[in-house]
Amino acid sequence: MSDRSEALFDDAKQVIPGGVNSPVRAFKAVERNPVFIKNAKGSHIFDVDGNEYVDYVCSWGPMILGHAYPPVIEAVKKACDNGLSYGAPTENETVLAKLILEAVPFMDKVRLVNSGTEAVMSAIRVARGYTGRDKIIKFRGNYHGHSDGLLVTAGSGLLTESNPDSAGVPKGYTATTLLADYNDATSVEALFKANPGEIAAVIVEPVSANMGVVPPKEGFLQFLRDITKANDSLLIFDEVITGFRLAFGGASEYFGIQPDMITFGKIVGGGMPLAAYVGKADIMNVVAPVGSVYQAGTLSGNPIAVTAGIKQLEALKSDKAIYDRIDSYAKKLEEAYLEKGFTVNRVGSLLSPFFTSGPVVSYADVLKCDTNKFAAYFRSMLSQGIYVAPSQFEAMFVSDAHTEDDLDKTIKAIQNI
Ligand SMILES: *Cc1c(COP(=O)(O)O)cnc(C)c1O
Repeated sequence: MSDRSEALFDDAKQVIPGGVNSPVRAFKAVERNPVFIKNAKGSHIFDVDGNEYVDYVCSWGPMILGHAYPPVIEAVKKACDNGLSYGAPTENETVLAKLILEAVPFMDKVRLVNSGTEAVMSAIRVARGYTGRDKIIKFRGNYHGHSDGLLVTAGSGLLTESNPDSAGVPKGYTATTLLADYNDATSVEALFKANPGEIAAVIVEPVSANMGVVPPKEGFLQFLRDITKANDSLLIFDEVITGFRLAFGGASEYFGIQPDMITFGKIVGGGMPLAAYVGKADIMNVVAPVGSVYQAGTLSGNPIAVTAGIKQLEALKSDKAIYDRIDSYAKKLEEAYLEKGFTVNRVGSLLSPFFTSGPVVSYADVLKCDTNKFAAYFRSMLSQGIYVAPSQFEAMFVSDAHTEDDLDKTIKAIQNI
């Protein structure tokens, strides 16, 4: 049954482009209309037609403890009574900053912002301001939010050509974005060689999770650490997905690599619009009002969002066994997909089943996947009460709220697709 979702979607399309406030929600890639959500609790999400789903989107990652996690909800309700925003500093911003730094103890300072897009955009401005250089290297298939200079994914294959992915982005805005291939050290070396002394930073998703999950090859992140250091460039880990997910300390802890800057989003806000960028003191001190790199936000450090972030991070910090649990849940799903004949990539609680026969280690491998088969699989899973990401190029997110019953039900659905 989806009558009410269909009606609400029709209505929404009259006043919102495509009926959604973020494109992937429109379910276009899976050739059906979206379900409209009424509420969610734990690992389950409920639509307006009374359907219940086991949720593996988890708001695209933030709900690592499950939906409506009581300590977060209670604290947020209480915080609301004190007013929603002041535009002035509060004690809790420091509490959250210190919690974030406990996760990445080799970092010194944190700036809170409102979205992952903003965190990455700001971190890159800081890297440019700090190094006095303009160019950055990003990887094809890595997503860093929708700011102009980062909306470049696939060029023509020429190392130096950077065409915007989106209309409305002037070519000049992406001219300083150089593209390399994820897991391909040679492509990075070539860019450093062709642009000596000009590269401010390399930005990378330490585990690619926006082209489906693609883990870094052994040694790849260390290679990035070494080549950036050798060229006085900064290494930025975009941990908007991996932060507080692969471990409390995110990918830097998981892989034992210390980048110069890290961006956080999604989990760090506990489901509220909050993100952050962090760095060493000498780098972060270029940010206004201390330094000359301007970055600001009317709602940055919002008291309600900060409260949600604190409660979620406190829960993750106090029970690190969460990470073993969600890893083991994801492993069970991985096994079921493998048994069904999928190619599967998994890192901790992030996983992607791919519709392709070979291994998936690069963006080029990802592009070989059969998206029509994916669409049919998605529709089958949804009809069986399992809500996975509506695209081959997104990760599945497992939460601590998923139960044995949920997993059994999901495994049966996988066997039935
Ligand atoms: C989601 C995401 C972003 C953008 O975050 P928003 O909060 O959607 O702006 C940036 N980088 C990565 C790796 C992401 O997954």
